[in-house]
Amino acid sequence: MGTALLYDEEMTKYKLLWVDPACKIEVPERLIVSYEALVRSGLSDRCISIPAREASDSEILLVHSELYLEAVKKTPYMTLEDLKEFTLQFGDVYFHPNIYQCAKLASGSALQLVDSVMTGKVRNGIALVRPPGHHSMHGAANGFCVFNNVAIAARYAKQKYGVKRVLIVDWDIHHGQGVQYCFEDDPSVLYFSWHRYEHQNFWPNLRESDYDSVGKESGAGFNINVPWNNVGMENSDYLSVFCHVLLPVAYEFCPDLVLVCAGFDSAIGDPEVHKKTENNDNIYAFYSSFSKGSYLNIVCLHALLFCALRKTSSSQLKLAE
Ligand SMILES: [Zn+2]
Repeated sequence: MGTALLYDEEMTKYKLLWVDPACKIEVPERLIVSYEALVRSGLSDRCISIPAREASDSEILLVHSELYLEAVKKTPYMTLEDLKEFTLQFGDVYFHPNIYQCAKLASGSALQLVDSVMTGKVRNGIALVRPPGHHSMHGAANGFCVFNNVAIAARYAKQKYGVKRVLIVDWDIHHGQGVQYCFEDDPSVLYFSWHRYEHQNFWPNLRESDYDSVGKESGAGFNINVPWNNVGMENSDYLSVFCHVLLPVAYEFCPDLVLVCAGFDSAIGDPEVHKKTENNDNIYAFYSSFSKGSYLNIVCLHALLFCALRKTSSSQLKLAE
């Protein structure tokens, strides 16, 4: 069994149509460059190409409210002024007439990966998707995210395949609060995130991104946040947390499926990351070995920053190798 690769250039076909300094970094090229790097290296040829598909309404509603979905459905028909106004009710995100189509494809790609892994067609896989998902919430877009791709994939896997335990690892430099909110009272989905926090001074600036948000009710103990309060973390910091926190917990939890929110803004070279070391490929290599156990591994990629992409490419290559 090999590794699946999902990419559909349709997901490059939306962009910011007005001036917004918070969103100007969210450009189509970050997806294009990621894919081109995989092609250039020859790695895409070694992967099993899986077509993307649109997520259905019922699949999106596994995580999002009907009110929110119906509102997003109207965006392809909005004027520029209407789109701007619609966007204003959310934080750090923008809408475009084609973003609903792309968001359906992004979520559907994650579901295609789940199907490919669960049916034994591949052992693991990577989906290059846009828009990303981990910040979006039950009734709100947020942080460039429209639908919560990984959260939808986790619920879909449970519903369709009877998966008992899903581990979601979020290596993006930002906390995926949307994923946390979705599963914080659910002991069958363990969410692990390491992220820049700086005592709540780093976006999304939420109190609940701190280490003491451990889940609620029966989900208590199944939400693990590792907030970095300093910048300049090195490979050794990441490896230490990986080996001493994530790995023991993962073995004890014994997931049937592992989903990774693979935002590459935590890669060296991205201005968001402030890492000291030259290269953090080791950590990606560790993720690769992590998936060689009994776990089924799925990697859902959303590279958040265009400027991360050059470095992203080497990290992706390491992962794909
Ligand atoms: Zn991020």
